[in-house]
Amino acid sequence: MPKAQETVLEIDLNALKHNFEHLKSKLKDNTKVLAVVKAFAYGSDACKIAKYLETLDVDYFAVAYTNEGVALRQAGVTKPILVLHPIAINFKTLIAYCLEPNLYSSKILETFIEVATQENQTNYPVHIKFNTGLNRLGFDERDIDFIANTLKETSGIKVKSLFSHLAASEDLNEREFTLNQINTFKQYSEKLINLMGYAPIRHMCNTSGILNYPEAHFDMVRTGIGLYGFGNSEKESKNLKPIATLKTIISQIHTIEKGESVGYNRAFKSKSLLKTATLPIGHADGISRIYGKGKGFVTINGKKAPIVGNVCMDMIMVNITNIECEEGDEVIVFGPEHNTAESLAESASTISYELITSISQRVKRILL
Ligand code: PLP
Repeated sequence: MPKAQETVLEIDLNALKHNFEHLKSKLKDNTKVLAVVKAFAYGSDACKIAKYLETLDVDYFAVAYTNEGVALRQAGVTKPILVLHPIAINFKTLIAYCLEPNLYSSKILETFIEVATQENQTNYPVHIKFNTGLNRLGFDERDIDFIANTLKETSGIKVKSLFSHLAASEDLNEREFTLNQINTFKQYSEKLINLMGYAPIRHMCNTSGILNYPEAHFDMVRTGIGLYGFGNSEKESKNLKPIATLKTIISQIHTIEKGESVGYNRAFKSKSLLKTATLPIGHADGISRIYGKGKGFVTINGKKAPIVGNVCMDMIMVNITNIECEEGDEVIVFGPEHNTAESLAESASTISYELITSISQRVKRILL
């Protein structure tokens, strides 16, 4: 692998393939896979990741918002795309780009039917989401008759899937709650299927659900974090490979005398003679200021270099006192081997999801 010469996020497509295949190996042959590629495919590169996943026989994609789906279509992605959180003002665009909305409330259902009818659509594919305990988006049991009656009165839309989202599939202490969610989903979906007279695809599991609740795989699963190489526990992550490595370089090396400070607000004051390296990556690239509070570190020539002082917009300073290195040397901010995104995120009391989706678009993505 060539050494980095600037700040880059390397994306390893072989690792993505491995993760896809590993997750698929947990499913029955006919269970479909939906790849969640929202938020730039969890901070990587949604268009390239989606195009690659199409070559691996993925069945579906999901994004959060309409504009994310539009970008995929413009890049040539042809598989169906579920928009998880469509906003009414974008419905015409959503239809123009053959995106499929999650209809999660009576108002959003009625508004979408209105727009689909205006746009002369028949049987436009839509997805109905049930709230089974996450209490975020979705219909409740009392809405089921209303959904069925509304569907009977229109030929503008057709339900392609029924789904729900698990709240704590990673937490085995919440097993009873999760099993209850799964049962609730079964009941709600069976009731609606009986009223509609046909059975659409049913799906409920995210990555942790796939790994921990095989009984809830239904017809399709939705995986995000697992594709990118993380689970929500050591056990879940064991057979997955992180696809992203965030690299940068050393811009300058300083000798800091005892009592001198480093960076803004003089937040770090040296208690002894030390050496620091300044790196061209900062909070505008997604390295939160929290990592400057004595928590974050990077790896240089295989050794840990703690961040010292406040994280600046475009730079961080790290302590390299005990590390043999020079200006221009490569620095690993996180990667599969040294400091993983999981451990770095944990040092700031957050999760890999937040760290990887925060890497800003300023950072060049390189696909390997
Ligand atoms: N399904 C829905 C509705 C989601 O919002 C998400 C992610 O937040 C996923 C599936 C994928 O979850 P995970 O990344 O944990 O696999």
